[in-house]
Amino acid sequence: MATLDRNFTDELRMRLSIVDVVRRRVPLTRKGQNYWGCCPFHNEKTPSFSVNEEKGFYHCFGCGEHGDIISFTMKTGNMEFREAITELASQAGMKMPDYKPRDPKVVAREESYIQITERATALFQQKLFEPAGATALAYITGRGFTPDMIKKYRIGYAPKNNLIANTFANARQENLIATGLCRRGDYGMYDFFRDKLMFPIFNVRGQIVAFSGRSLDGSEPKYINTTDTEMFHKRATVFGLNFARDAIYRAGRSIVVEGQIDAIQMQSNGFGETVAPLGTALTEDHIAALCKSNRNITFCFDGDGAGQKAAARAASIVMPFVRDTSDVRFAFVTGGKDPDEVLKTGGRDAMRKIIDGATDLTDFLWELANKNYITSTPGGQTQAEKFLSAEIAKIKDEALRRAYEKEYASRKFNQWSRWSRKKKEVSLQLPSVDEITRGTLVYIVNTYPELVERYGDFLATLNIDFDGPAANLNMDTITAERYVVSLKLQKYMEKLVADKKDYMTQMLAGADVKDKIAAIDADMEKVRAKQEMLVII
Ligand SMILES: [Zn+2]
Repeated sequence: MATLDRNFTDELRMRLSIVDVVRRRVPLTRKGQNYWGCCPFHNEKTPSFSVNEEKGFYHCFGCGEHGDIISFTMKTGNMEFREAITELASQAGMKMPDYKPRDPKVVAREESYIQITERATALFQQKLFEPAGATALAYITGRGFTPDMIKKYRIGYAPKNNLIANTFANARQENLIATGLCRRGDYGMYDFFRDKLMFPIFNVRGQIVAFSGRSLDGSEPKYINTTDTEMFHKRATVFGLNFARDAIYRAGRSIVVEGQIDAIQMQSNGFGETVAPLGTALTEDHIAALCKSNRNITFCFDGDGAGQKAAARAASIVMPFVRDTSDVRFAFVTGGKDPDEVLKTGGRDAMRKIIDGATDLTDFLWELANKNYITSTPGGQTQAEKFLSAEIAKIKDEALRRAYEKEYASRKFNQWSRWSRKKKEVSLQLPSVDEITRGTLVYIVNTYPELVERYGDFLATLNIDFDGPAANLNMDTITAERYVVSLKLQKYMEKLVADKKDYMTQMLAGADVKDKIAAIDADMEKVRAKQEMLVII
């Protein structure tokens, strides 16, 4: 039987909101978690047809009709499968792929695989509430998990004995081994997960393809995952994506946290778009999976050394995926906490603050360069420049790459005082906005539009007629920028002098403005230092 590539239908489900699809044919109103309308499959006057955005399903409590965007489109449009997919693809703005026949043997194996993992999950869930699961239940409850969360994420307990091997004693051993749940030992089959708190790992279709087990007796490693199988590739699987995909679509971004418990807590506390890599290491495949929805990612890591390292690694991996429309940010949870603890102590507002205060990718790379290398020395600057260049080189869009280069060139000029090493006393001839200055500025503005971008706000305050004649000069971009910066410093100094004069008058009249004058003096000192540096370049 020929069927469409499953990835394509998955992507349709990921891109399209079921509420949007249904709304094209049935008016819906939101009530609580669900949307409601009059059922298109049976005659009714009061709405009993519900649509669940998060799960991507509709269900009619009147006639029992149930399904997803594809079955809805097929049934209401009286369409064949392929027709329905074509219509949905056009709604999603996606190109139809070619038909691809699938090996029926592979399909059958996947089904038995899913049957085994599904039944194992149900067993683990049951064991969590039996006496043997008491420690596991106490642990997960202690982490703030409610019964609803335990149910939704299908958390369970794998006991010490060979529960799965015994339960499936009559199944074909290859099928059991294929799921990664059991292994063959000298004395027969044994369970891979024993005495573990069990988190099922879902694929984007919501099928359980693997497990992550947490140790309960303090033994390391804290987490073990199913080793890679035909249906599970750890490097490519993002924990929580099946639950998060609609929220990612709605929020227009995803949040990536370090661990699965954090991801579940975030999803349950107003950040439905949160996911986590499996294990600590983020891979390109993880990012690729996230970028299927959109390229806006906020990474949220612990503020400690390990978190900083993880963030640096994430930045390095994300660079090839960055587009001019991407919004990539880095948030840090400080104070030795993780998102889970922040949510517990400060609630979602505290978390929202951290996410909203995230550092933009451009700034984050710049901070990294300045933190990891001693940029007050020529060697450190060279190392930092090499680091930045290597990261920028990964960007695929050439125009964007140039924009990054320009941005960092300006920061290097403004923030790395490379001239301060060869200090010599030179007096600065400050320009004033006379006819010569005006002509020079017009020349600069016409020759170096990037400087206008950077100093436009300042130049606008000068009230100059930029349409007038330009001076006939030959100035390189660095000299031009120095000229503008020095003018800016001069204007600022003039303002400080005026302010100080003002305060002095007030002080003579008896006002207590000593602090204000001191602040102005400090500012003046800073401006003077900057002016000095400018002339020594
Ligand atoms: Zn109905």
